[in-house]
Amino acid sequence: MSQFSDRVEAISISGIREVFEAAGDDAINLGIGQPDFPTPDHARRGAIEAIETGQVDAYTANKGVQGLREGIVAKHERDLGLDYDPGELIATAGGSEALHIALEAHVNIGDEVIFPDPGFVAYDALTKLAGGEPVPVPLRDDLTIDPAAIEEAITEDTAAFVVNSPGNPTGAVSPPEDVRAFARIAREHDVLCISDEVYGRIIFDGEHRSPAEFAPEQTVVVDACSKTYSMTGWRLGWVAASEERIERMLRVHQYVQACASAPAQFAAEAALTGPQGVVDEMVDTFEKRRDIVVDGLTDIGFDVPTPEGAFYVMPKVPEGFVDECIERGVVVVPGEAFGEHGEGYARLSYATSTEEIHEALDIMAEAADAVR
Ligand code: PLP
Repeated sequence: MSQFSDRVEAISISGIREVFEAAGDDAINLGIGQPDFPTPDHARRGAIEAIETGQVDAYTANKGVQGLREGIVAKHERDLGLDYDPGELIATAGGSEALHIALEAHVNIGDEVIFPDPGFVAYDALTKLAGGEPVPVPLRDDLTIDPAAIEEAITEDTAAFVVNSPGNPTGAVSPPEDVRAFARIAREHDVLCISDEVYGRIIFDGEHRSPAEFAPEQTVVVDACSKTYSMTGWRLGWVAASEERIERMLRVHQYVQACASAPAQFAAEAALTGPQGVVDEMVDTFEKRRDIVVDGLTDIGFDVPTPEGAFYVMPKVPEGFVDECIERGVVVVPGEAFGEHGEGYARLSYATSTEEIHEALDIMAEAADAVR
């Protein structure tokens, strides 16, 4: 008998790490999934002050400190006009834990979970850990999530579907009519919609909308400070949902985390309630880089939908291109790391300096010539 659970044997370490390791230390890294900005000063100070005044020495409430949850309520009101109660939130160890407790609380053994393919790597793995059956569905040609594909995939065993806008690995933003369709599907089929909105503030064109605006009872919103405030290392995210769902997710959170890290909670409270200009500046910078990358890739001759958010772009690339880039010292992630429908694509992150982006584009042009 194996010492290990079938559930853990069914998942593996993310392929993205392997790419980093293959490339060496002086490579230009376009594989990174985090902003290249410092955490805003006011967020850092929020944590420092809480440490100095002894507020972080004990467990906090399982759901998180009241001030943070009020800050999250205000954020949802500001960005989406949503009206959560602080009781309808749990502060988590990043968006990752938020996804984990959402799936643990809603998925029975053998239940199906639908998610975009290519999509964020955790959807498949966390579904399997919860004992569920992954049902990956392909994207449209423009790399947006197709509500019709989700609806077609629904069976009587479907527990949930995951949507993610702006998307990783695509940068694609779901238009409002699609977001409304996600909400309608959740209501009509009585299935849960898990809406992963960790890139919701990083948007250049279009607008960020949430299925929670149209189907609040059927939606669990997953969000985090990680990308918005360049706080990936702090590990602070949250779920927002109806009290009934929150109570079930709290049962899991209580035993796996007790509470999110207290210093991170105070930093997040300060980030969410303090000046938001730093976020706007970061988004402006990402937009300029997005334009450089899309123009550069188009000049190389790649077919590339213009991403409207996040900091990723996902061109179709010729066979052998990813390896050729890595050999020449530019890290890009093969599309298949995000699901089988990602094959033939590569994910490039532009969370790096403009100078490095220009350098990487020159090298990618050579790599493309070498494999054509
Ligand atoms: N959801 C998506 C789409 C992501 O890309 C990531 C991180 O890359 C996460 C969730 C997890 O974020 P966190 O670092 O807050 O756990």
